[in-house]
Amino acid sequence: MTATQQQLELVSVTKRYGVTVAVDAIDHKFQPGGYACLLGPSGCGKSSTLRMIAGHEGVTDGAILLGGADISYLSPAKRGTAMMFQNYALFPHLSVIDNVAFSLKMRGDDRSGRLRKAGEMLELVDLSALGDRLPDQLSGGQQQRVALARALITRPQVLLLDEPLSALDPFLRIRMRGELRKLQRELGISFIHVTHGQDEALALADEIVVMNNAVIEQAGSARIVFNAPKTAFVAQFIGGHNVIALPQGRFAIRADAVGLLHRGMGHLQGSILAVEYQGAHVSVLARVAGDQDISALVPEATFFNDPLNPGDQVGLTWDDANLHKLTA
Ligand code: ADP
Repeated sequence: MTATQQQLELVSVTKRYGVTVAVDAIDHKFQPGGYACLLGPSGCGKSSTLRMIAGHEGVTDGAILLGGADISYLSPAKRGTAMMFQNYALFPHLSVIDNVAFSLKMRGDDRSGRLRKAGEMLELVDLSALGDRLPDQLSGGQQQRVALARALITRPQVLLLDEPLSALDPFLRIRMRGELRKLQRELGISFIHVTHGQDEALALADEIVVMNNAVIEQAGSARIVFNAPKTAFVAQFIGGHNVIALPQGRFAIRADAVGLLHRGMGHLQGSILAVEYQGAHVSVLARVAGDQDISALVPEATFFNDPLNPGDQVGLTWDDANLHKLTA
């Protein structure tokens, strides 16, 4: 973090649409210069939060601070934030370079200055050769890079990205997420990226903010959120976990921390419901007393040393250090 990076802070931010509470008094301090993902299911309030930070939506209550200053009531262009939209929202009749330069034109910059700065931005996203094209003459990935350049030309402190990869095919999505991460590191500004994909959040984020039902369920580094989910919702949404009810309470345990014993008791006994080959691992689902289903992710070589089949009785075992007590 350099001295010029400003911290974005949400203070009891609320958004109501009529009687719907879309965002309910959330507090969060984003890491300056970090890559944050707002993660959660559809309708949990992610986009409303992002739009309030951008200034495209007013706050009903609470405040948004950037570098300690209240920006809640500033116009979008005056906040030090910029937004990249899901559908990129490029102007179809403007060339790539004029799309990128658009906000400078609105600001009243002269044409030569605009084109020079837009040219620099196109270089940054590796599109210098395509400045004269129209948006519909570009691939999806190229359109996205134009949208990025157009957002970055205002030199924001915080770049806001609303489901930026959802319009791309799976292969391109993985490539573009690598490019986003690289760009964020190069620029050193804060990125706040809305997604409902846990893989995307784990791959990209320094910090994951998990939302559910208009509130923040948990925020922390990708590793902390994955390894120590606080609530059953986070454990289930982030994936790869079991939520187990034991006499001492409810716990999360990673599927790859559950071992299977062909003989012997283990912590719980169950019968195998399903075996799914996943390449590097085999996913084994077992049903234990109380109709709880528990999945174990076993390295494939270990599994095939002594394979199991549906209907087999097994003991399930784990190291208690891998159990994480859930608060809700
Ligand atoms: P997400 O981005 O997580 O899918 P949203 O922030 O878009 O969630 O929506 C949160 C809640 O607010 C939902 O119940 C949604 O229906 C509602 N909502 C979002 N935008 C509006 C709007 N403009 N008018 C009324 N309700 C809205």
